[in-house]
Amino acid sequence: MSLRLLVVEDDREIRTLMQSTLSVEGFEVQTAVSLSEARALLLHSPPDVVVLDLGLPDGDGLELVQTIRRQHTLPILIVSARHQEEQKIRLLDAGADDYLTKPFSVGELLARIRVAMRHRGTALAAAVTEHHRDDLHIDLTQRSVHSRGETLHLTPTEFSLLARLVRSAGRVVTHRQLLHDVWGPEFTEHTHYLRLYMGQLRAKIEADPAEPRHLLTETGVGYRLATGS
Ligand code: CA
Repeated sequence: MSLRLLVVEDDREIRTLMQSTLSVEGFEVQTAVSLSEARALLLHSPPDVVVLDLGLPDGDGLELVQTIRRQHTLPILIVSARHQEEQKIRLLDAGADDYLTKPFSVGELLARIRVAMRHRGTALAAAVTEHHRDDLHIDLTQRSVHSRGETLHLTPTEFSLLARLVRSAGRVVTHRQLLHDVWGPEFTEHTHYLRLYMGQLRAKIEADPAEPRHLLTETGVGYRLATGS
């Protein structure tokens, strides 16, 4: 059975391109040109994945994300233009899984879909407890972190921050989500905590903290623990 993908995009050229390329990749692709059309499709034939453009003729995608999250666990990927940062962050905080900034390649889109599907899948089956990439090995159950052949000693806060990123490996986690989950709901504006602790983590984990290969910055949005090559 092929995966059903709903592409919500008002730009005909992008929509047609996504439809044809994603169909070739084996997805069953439905398209909607507006939020209202997307709502109708979600009601009648819920997809497995939603790809949601931010600039739509009939309003903000926030409401759609909230509606979907009330009823479904399916992955939602946001497609945004560079100037739509604020809006994008609100949607990520509301439960969207990840985002792509235009222009993006089909390869990037497919990689993001795979990561999001894996997370949604494992969220239902079992939580992610391990992360292994190149010289970095993290085991949340053992509370152990190894990098370049050495055991690293992390403070409890550093470990909590890293663990939060491991559980979303490959996906962006917003500043607000990290602060909320690691420090607590009253700390969501304390972005300086994040800068401080991320600096400490990078100093321990990265071969060159100035050129991080594992703990990636998503400028203005949050951080992403790298997966894959
Ligand atoms: Ca648009």
